[in-house]
Amino acid sequence: MKPVMETYKRLGIAPVEGRGSWLIDERGDRYLDFIAGIATNSLGHGHPALVEAIKEQAEKLIHCSNLYRVPLQEEVARMLTEATDFDRVFFCNSGTESVEAAIKLARRHAHNTSGPHKHEVLTFTGSFHGRTYGGLTATAQPALHEGFAPMVGGFAYAPYGDLEAASSRIGPQTAAVLVEPIQGESGVNEPPEGFLEGLRELCDRHGALLIFDEVQTGVGRTGHLYAYQGIGVVPDAITSAKGLGGGVPVGAVLAKEEHAAALTPGSHGSTFGGNPLAMAAARAVLRVVREPSFLEEVRTKGAILKNGLRELAARVPGAQVRGRGLLLGLELGPELAPEVFRRCLQEKVLVNLVGGKTLRMAPPLTVSRTEVRYALCTFRGGVEALMEAAPAEAVV
Ligand code: PMP
Repeated sequence: MKPVMETYKRLGIAPVEGRGSWLIDERGDRYLDFIAGIATNSLGHGHPALVEAIKEQAEKLIHCSNLYRVPLQEEVARMLTEATDFDRVFFCNSGTESVEAAIKLARRHAHNTSGPHKHEVLTFTGSFHGRTYGGLTATAQPALHEGFAPMVGGFAYAPYGDLEAASSRIGPQTAAVLVEPIQGESGVNEPPEGFLEGLRELCDRHGALLIFDEVQTGVGRTGHLYAYQGIGVVPDAITSAKGLGGGVPVGAVLAKEEHAAALTPGSHGSTFGGNPLAMAAARAVLRVVREPSFLEEVRTKGAILKNGLRELAARVPGAQVRGRGLLLGLELGPELAPEVFRRCLQEKVLVNLVGGKTLRMAPPLTVSRTEVRYALCTFRGGVEALMEAAPAEAVV
């Protein structure tokens, strides 16, 4: 019997080492990592500043407790608040925990200001917010709820991108609207223009908090420290995780003082959240990522990748390219996508197949322009080889 529970659909590859944008497996084979731990290895593998920061902090102090002041937490929180529109940060260890904290913050704020009737959280079809009960209930994908009932009460759902439907579900009972500015897990879906602006207006009208789940889109991924900064809609709070620790488990909720004040001492917490080792990693990541020149280079590399993918998509009927910065999806359809994915694996370029029809790309933010071109060549090679084998009407 295998000792590890089989909760994942795993590929057979076993990476044991990493350098920059490359992973090396048990057999010594090298792979170009174009998924980066699902948007998590923001600085790639073995980044000297991150490795040094972890080593140094491990020798000093790994963990103490939130019973005491943690100066590094204060420092990282300041780095985050100075670079965003928020005043306060709560640290946890993962994306789903950051979602839990954001929901608790919103509900308690609503409870304090309007009473217990105002507790509903509105989320959107196809969303992904995590696997703990709150995050899972917020995740509007029935297949992921299967067999886990009863879910948490007080959630409502609307189709992603449909402002009218959202409008009909928001009311005095709504404490928060929780939305991904780009849906990552369900295929890098961008909402139609005006959707996020519309949600902002609806939330303002009904006194609900607008929370962006930036677990996947945050920490430079879209070419801005947080995606909302590139979109121009300022939410009341954001969740962050994945890239924040560069691979070390770090999660966070960023909120405005007037809402954050609802989480009074003793109302929420985490043993590990914001411990010195995690904070040393987050500080090292943020020192690199929040630099304007670094973010500009992410946007440039993202544009090179997106343009290359668009050229490719133009040759495949129905194909689409979506996303921003270095979070991109190439939808090729249920026939072509799995085949191209298989060929990428053969060619040792790691991407992720979502929904059976879209290749998701989220390389390290430190990926080189040459590596971007290398990956594009592989995708092109895969599509061309399959085009040659396909009937003439399937391609243009
Ligand atoms: N929210 C979003 C938008 C995510 O993409 C994810 C992870 N894919 C999560 C929450 C959950 O994060 P974690 O796996 O760290 O709990």
